[in-house]
Amino acid sequence: MNRYAVRIGSVLALGLSFHLGLFAFAGAAENAAYIYDGKRVVFETLVHTNSGPAVSADDPGLHQLVENAGGSITWDADNQYVLVTFPGPTVISFAIGDAHYLIGSVSHPAAFAPFVRDAHAFVPLNDVLRALKLPPFPPALAAADVAPTATPPPFATPVPSPQPDQLAQVTGVDVQAQSGSVTIRIGIAGNGAYEWHRLRPPDNRWWIDVHTAKLATAPIDQNGGTLVSSVRVRQQGADTVRVALSLPASEQVDVTPGADGIMVVVSNLTAAGAVHGSGTFGSIVTANASPLAGPAASPAVRYVPANPHLIVIDPGHGGSDPGAVRGSLQEKSLALDIARRVRDILVARGWQVLMTRTDDRDVFAANDSARDELQARDDVANSRGARLLVSIHVNSYVNSGPHGVATYYYKPSDLALAQSVSRRIAAELGVNNNGVIKDKLYVINHAAMPAALVETAYLSNPDDFALLQSGSWRQKVAQAIADGIADYTESN
Ligand SMILES: [Zn+2]
Repeated sequence: MNRYAVRIGSVLALGLSFHLGLFAFAGAAENAAYIYDGKRVVFETLVHTNSGPAVSADDPGLHQLVENAGGSITWDADNQYVLVTFPGPTVISFAIGDAHYLIGSVSHPAAFAPFVRDAHAFVPLNDVLRALKLPPFPPALAAADVAPTATPPPFATPVPSPQPDQLAQVTGVDVQAQSGSVTIRIGIAGNGAYEWHRLRPPDNRWWIDVHTAKLATAPIDQNGGTLVSSVRVRQQGADTVRVALSLPASEQVDVTPGADGIMVVVSNLTAAGAVHGSGTFGSIVTANASPLAGPAASPAVRYVPANPHLIVIDPGHGGSDPGAVRGSLQEKSLALDIARRVRDILVARGWQVLMTRTDDRDVFAANDSARDELQARDDVANSRGARLLVSIHVNSYVNSGPHGVATYYYKPSDLALAQSVSRRIAAELGVNNNGVIKDKLYVINHAAMPAALVETAYLSNPDDFALLQSGSWRQKVAQAIADGIADYTESN
């Protein structure tokens, strides 16, 4: 239970400021006028990537679009975020290097990961437009407003209606299962557009229609392993090829178009939000690609642990603060039990492990403030330069409905750790996995190192309550968390 959550909406109160000045842009940026919602908009920093148009967060045209919608946009270079905020508050956040964006706490796949170039943060234009409920780029060109020398971008070139021999050819699919994900490459020769759709759980069917295309092989029926029970490819009408996936659960599906087809990645994170999307594939998209071939590596400052062998485990609550309670079961005792089990597994694997508490006590002082108590836990990890911190909690809600596990992160550096832990929870526990959730929780936000907070189950849900009473289930939770930490440390 996170009684001390500070909603991300509170960033509105921080007095955001941003650089609005025009800047000299070194590169093939376009300067062209478009009409959105009947208003003339000039993008001054528009560049084309292989995965779609990008604009800088301080582009005057982008500012105009966001401000027309009543919002504001800012680039937080320290925290490597671009935030679009609306009164309400609604916050849309893009993190540099993360190919997802959040609307509130709901994650959506982005066309590409935002990147930094010449100290300016570039975001996927079409994802911002979608969030603003505006049509994708390019809208109708503002012909009368365009300077005579300006050439329309290649996106504005209408794709001629296809003759039979001009249809794109779907040449096949390649299905590769990895640990925790399946990559499906749809090979396509030619240019065109696609759209994808998914049905809400528990149906979980997902399909992508490749338009102005002909299937150049026999129909395909293939098994995709545990994450994708079937991959079916069919000609659908005269000029559409449909690739349909049967998913056993509501997995996350990311779609990335390229010059030679479309890549679809299914991963066992819980999907959130988006039920359809669209885009274009083929060389038309890349014909005018700028020198920017793809998202540039961002020079984000990396945390260097003073003690790379040390892991800090934080059992939530304790002492005067029981956390969530149901009958004789208290969150503070369950969290401590699971944390001890995690510690024992990690120690057996050769890690140094420090717990913020090893018995039933307040870490700072009895009946202290939430801030003092949580900062004391961060101090344990920060003062020793630990490699990472994992905080363990048990959830509760006002009714018995919500159930399952959720893994929280906040800083960009937390995400990979949270994803690793969440993947193992999904794979090993067989319970409802609510996935990875971004939230400005004090203990993870104030940890200098990558940190994650696991809400293991709901005391308020009868099935979860039964699981929490089982020592063997708590051992399985501990095993999954330890395995997630192992996956993370092997690749980070
Ligand atoms: Zn808690």
